[in-house]
Amino acid sequence: MTETSGLAVRGLRKAYGDHVAVDDVSFTLAPGSSLGIVGESGSGKTTTVRMLVGLERADAGSVTLDGRDRSAGTRRGGPRRAERLARAREIQMVFQDPYLSLDPRITVGGCVDEVLRLHFRLGPAARRARVAELLDQVGLGPREAAALPRALSGGQRQRVAIARALAAEPRVLVLDEAVAALDVSIQAQILELLTGIRRDAGIGYLFVTHDLGVVRHITEEVVVLRHGRVVESGATDRVLGAPEHPYTRLLLDSVPRRGWDPARIDGARAAAGGPRP
Ligand code: ADP
Ligand code: MG
Repeated sequence: MTETSGLAVRGLRKAYGDHVAVDDVSFTLAPGSSLGIVGESGSGKTTTVRMLVGLERADAGSVTLDGRDRSAGTRRGGPRRAERLARAREIQMVFQDPYLSLDPRITVGGCVDEVLRLHFRLGPAARRARVAELLDQVGLGPREAAALPRALSGGQRQRVAIARALAAEPRVLVLDEAVAALDVSIQAQILELLTGIRRDAGIGYLFVTHDLGVVRHITEEVVVLRHGRVVESGATDRVLGAPEHPYTRLLLDSVPRRGWDPARIDGARAAAGGPRP
């Protein structure tokens, strides 16, 4: 791996009025590796990744993929449409609620086909074959391909959203609370699926979640956000096994389990700097 390969985020900042949602956030994601972004609700996770995929414009900082600046496309006299499109393809996002990101009037197969038509020059037969292949990769068959999104379960819909993201052949897949709305057993299936895909395709994952169990399961490194700032980062085993920052310990203590003690968590919260405003 060269110094510049993979995704590099440097000094990202975003303010809404006088509220700083993301403050000097930096991290790197090596090709094919998996990074978790964790923190309580409101800690700036979604704002951070929205800036990566270009849904939100950063006030400061830079995002590069394999050394190429991803914000250049927004400048006047920037790259042509073809190059912008190629760039958009490189980082794909899967949201918490696939129902909102899937067109309810288009069949599942059609949803995936749209992405192929946008990004690749393939004839109808080649596209049909590729749609079937992508759906098969996420465990869906011809019956689901012909169905409308509303006919599927939540877990199946999330599989469609993943297939659609993979259709673009991205370098990085951003998953923002992508399994949060699913039952625990379905969550496990989707995480298993994602793990297999990463191994086979070598796509880097940016896994945004408030769930430390998910982080433990699927990430190699983790960044802990609090009030928009990185308070701790490093190998997932180390950060979850021997957290250095009181806030990380607080997050770990907040996971309900045997011996869970809300009073101790309130004490830890005070030690970490009081409740969120
Ligand atoms: P998370 O994903 O960690 O829950 P967000 O990135 O969604 O956090 O939000 C971070 C902070 O920025 C929150 O205080 C939120 O209210 C604020 N925020 C996010 N989006 C907007 C927006 N479009 N306008 C104003 N404030 C926003
Ligand atoms: Mg969020």
